[in-house]
Amino acid sequence: MRKQRPASALFISDLHLSDAQPATLRVFLSFLRGPARSAEALYILGDLFEYWAGDDDRDAPLHRTVQDALTDLSRAGVSIYFLAGNRDFLVGDAFAHAAQIELLPDPTLIEIAGQRVLLTHGDALCTDDQAYQAYRKQVRDPAWQSAFLGRPLGERKQIIESLREQSEAAKQVKATEIMDVNPSAVAALLREHAYPALLHGHTHRPAHHRLQVDGRDCERWVLEDWHNDAPYIRWDESGARMLRHAHGD
Ligand code: MN
Repeated sequence: MRKQRPASALFISDLHLSDAQPATLRVFLSFLRGPARSAEALYILGDLFEYWAGDDDRDAPLHRTVQDALTDLSRAGVSIYFLAGNRDFLVGDAFAHAAQIELLPDPTLIEIAGQRVLLTHGDALCTDDQAYQAYRKQVRDPAWQSAFLGRPLGERKQIIESLREQSEAAKQVKATEIMDVNPSAVAALLREHAYPALLHGHTHRPAHHRLQVDGRDCERWVLEDWHNDAPYIRWDESGARMLRHAHGD
């Protein structure tokens, strides 16, 4: 994959689109018609969808609407990249092709106006949650995925629904600290990639952290989830800033 070097880019994550949240879909469609067209590239850093049972579900009305809106944005000249989250890691080539988006591995290093930026969803950094990491390892295994995708769509949706219920129940008793990123995991990732800026979502704890790793000044940007009005980060030659698309039309 060629290294991406957009002059300007927008970043979003954790929209958790579902039929149960029509307002979030409306503001997302408005965002795609509006602010998203002001940059060269749009990066979606995971959990665009509350769940994704497989690309054979891409003609469901919500998925079709999102696909068409992404296609429109792509035709308007904006490059769209998708890095999967823990909810929608089964998004595959068929949806990507139909929506005219490019799938990225996690993590992915890009460069914006000379600044190296490492993109990740963020769940891999929550290493204190060992039960989650064991689950993640299982479901990211290609053999597990092909077996899962071999089941009928209706059955997959039922399994996902029961996993979501278990995950919600587990969250109630987990200490809030273990659901945040682990500082050593962050440091190791930054070291491995020669100390870029780090940008992720997942934790729903929006922030701009300054930190030191091995005596080097580093920064970590955390995207906000979309329970509030369309938060996004714009990164261009003047740096990064957190913005909001406050009113959908
Ligand atoms: Mn997530």
